Amino acid sequence: MPINKGAKPVDVNNRKVINGGDADVMQLYPMRHTFAWEAYNVGNANHWLPTEISMQRDIEQWKSPTALTADERQAFETVLGFFTTADSIAANNVVLALYKHITSPECRMYLLRQGYEEAVHTHAYQYIVESLGMDESKIFNMYRDVDAIYQKDNLILSLNEGIFDPEFKTGTFENDQKFLENLCVFSLILEGIFFYSSFAVMFGFQRQNKLTGSAEQIQYIMRDESQHLNFGINLINAIKEEQPELWTPEFQQRIIDLVKRAVKLEYTFATEVFPRGIFGMNADGFKQYIEHIADRRLERVALPLQYNVENPFPWMSEAVDLNKEKNFFETRVTEYKTGGTLNW
Ligand code: FE
Repeated sequence: MPINKGAKPVDVNNRKVINGGDADVMQLYPMRHTFAWEAYNVGNANHWLPTEISMQRDIEQWKSPTALTADERQAFETVLGFFTTADSIAANNVVLALYKHITSPECRMYLLRQGYEEAVHTHAYQYIVESLGMDESKIFNMYRDVDAIYQKDNLILSLNEGIFDPEFKTGTFENDQKFLENLCVFSLILEGIFFYSSFAVMFGFQRQNKLTGSAEQIQYIMRDESQHLNFGINLINAIKEEQPELWTPEFQQRIIDLVKRAVKLEYTFATEVFPRGIFGMNADGFKQYIEHIADRRLERVALPLQYNVENPFPWMSEAVDLNKEKNFFETRVTEYKTGGTLNW
């Protein structure tokens, strides 16, 4: 696309998340979606790498014939089976679908950061699988072999199909709704619901002092993911503000129905991971936890709550809510914050 030579600087009032006009070269200023710039800076300050975390104790426990029960091993493997491919779906969505249609430069800046973080997460799972000497092909192929994982992945992929189409363009009512639906599916469901029973399983291990290196990896991932989720929700709310005509009652009902479908799939997945319950977390607990999480997501985009249940795993909100979490990340993270003083 040729540069529009001599054109006037962009008017900040014309900046939009989608359909914001000229995207030949993107001018970061004037900046309108400051939430994206803030998220980008938070992401940079939270930089981490999987190889910094010691896996020694996990290796000993995984090799020991007595440290873990058969149920615990199966739960751990199934959760990893979900994780290993889920972040690649997220990465594809960011890079191959969302980025192209977003016309806000600061939102694109954050998507670039997010895409990299999804790669770091896949690296973390690879690092766990390799450190413990697990069967790689079994774990990385689980999305095809384990029906509960297949169903979750398939829901996301089938709903995203439209905006991956090379011919897809925003700018019509129908396509803009399609784009917004994709964003809701990606943020509220994939990043907001489908990761959370797996997170709970990992912190269940951590609370038992088992596989704590892996759990620490996941805690870093969850910190990143809560930023991805926040950003996605801000993006949805910004589009709602910029194009309120898209948010029709029918559309809202469609999103609610999709969230409810996702809750069922996530619950089926949780019961497959823990057929007999584990660490005091049973099927009922998971059901309620997933419903609680789903209501939190609906609430953030001003949709009506569907379940109204208490959080049965209150310790999860401590693990998730990293603003309150003071002690966990401080040491390593500050090393990156002072990265500007590198000595060559
Ligand atoms: Fe993510």
